[in-house]
Amino acid sequence: MTDSKSDEAREGELRTAIATGVPEIAAMTPGRTGNLSARSGDRVAITPSGVPYEEIQPGSVPVLSLDGESVIGDLAPSSETPMHLGIYRSLDVGAIAHVHSPWATTLAVLGEELPPVHYMVAAAGGPIPVAPYEPFGTVELAEAAVSTMESAGTTACILANHGLVAGGEDVQDAIETAVAVESTAQVYLQAKAVGDPVELTPAQFEGAMAQFDSYGQPERNDAD
Ligand SMILES: [Zn+2]
Repeated sequence: MTDSKSDEAREGELRTAIATGVPEIAAMTPGRTGNLSARSGDRVAITPSGVPYEEIQPGSVPVLSLDGESVIGDLAPSSETPMHLGIYRSLDVGAIAHVHSPWATTLAVLGEELPPVHYMVAAAGGPIPVAPYEPFGTVELAEAAVSTMESAGTTACILANHGLVAGGEDVQDAIETAVAVESTAQVYLQAKAVGDPVELTPAQFEGAMAQFDSYGQPERNDAD
């Protein structure tokens, strides 16, 4: 793949994308929990550690190499940087959102996956599995998340006793996937509280997956 943009231009776009997505993450997760990253080639921009969300500007977003070396920025990167970098090294995603949103985290505490009770679950590639518990901020947590998503074929997973992580093509896509999982987790748990949720049949769910594959604008054909 060739990229005619300069490194500085790419890094600037990544930092702006993070700062732009931060309010949506802030709305989903309590306090200063959660983090957001975006990748372009071997560069990763990620929310800084311990900075209130409302104070994050493009210039305060650290940029790292895929190996975790600091490239730009004075602030320390998120404590969950090892998880983000580990996912980028293994899965084909361009952005990652991590939140402790209450409904997905309720499933995390129950150790229960999100079953296919609504077609929006297909937005993340399938029923949302639960990665086994590992301490926050560790490489082991990254490995648990990667192997759980790889074996389920999803771009999101619930982190046991912790929260939710969702990947996407870009920042907006990752956030939308996180929102889809969180809102469906809420509906599922509310439905469970008063009755027995009805799951889509495998054929219905596969139909929804196929619709997501063809959803949106037609792919632009860049080939001559
Ligand atoms: Zn977390």
